[in-house]
Amino acid sequence: MARPLALFDLDNTLVDRLAAFERWAAEFAARRGLGPDAVAWLVRTDADGSVPMDVFFGLVRARFGLPEPVEELWAAYRARLPRLVTCRPEVLDGLARLRAAGWAVGIVTNGMADNQTGKIRRTGLAGRVDGWAISGAEGVRKPDARLFGIGAARCGASLTDGGWFVGDDPVKDVAGALAAGLRAIWVDRGRAPRPPGAEHVVTDVLDALELLMGMRPGGAV
Ligand SMILES: [Mg+2]
Repeated sequence: MARPLALFDLDNTLVDRLAAFERWAAEFAARRGLGPDAVAWLVRTDADGSVPMDVFFGLVRARFGLPEPVEELWAAYRARLPRLVTCRPEVLDGLARLRAAGWAVGIVTNGMADNQTGKIRRTGLAGRVDGWAISGAEGVRKPDARLFGIGAARCGASLTDGGWFVGDDPVKDVAGALAAGLRAIWVDRGRAPRPPGAEHVVTDVLDALELLMGMRPGGAV
């Protein structure tokens, strides 16, 4: 029998992307002497990662009159951000326990391959999951079901056997997972109304890990 499947979003689900972005913004503003309002402007303009980063760095370049091309600013950001992201030890342990209990565990994330791979490796997540799928490497983004299918395959699983997805974005994660034939646990960060179809709502991925650990592999999935 196939192992039950649990896939996770990365940013603001397994790792606190917002905290890492705030650290990056503080560094960036200080190094360039951008002034006292720059950090708040950078965080607001990023809009919790909802703005494409090429657009974001176009705005940054214009606002602060920076000489570097957008590509260069964006590449420097992608090289730096993985060093500012951490994953809590309890989350790493929870993933390890889930795998030890017989689950196939993976990550499905939107973003650039270098940035997302850097985060997965530097946080220690790479050693806690069976595989991952990154939109920038695969050419297809959540909520497209194909990225969920690639993530499942990387874990030696198939969407036809069902499984669970845990993520914070109502559309990319929850609606995407449902359309891909998965069941969804929504991580509520207080920024959006509960998406229809989410079977469980948690405020911390640790609670999602506990929920999954309480399910009988092969029975509840
Ligand atoms: Mg997310």
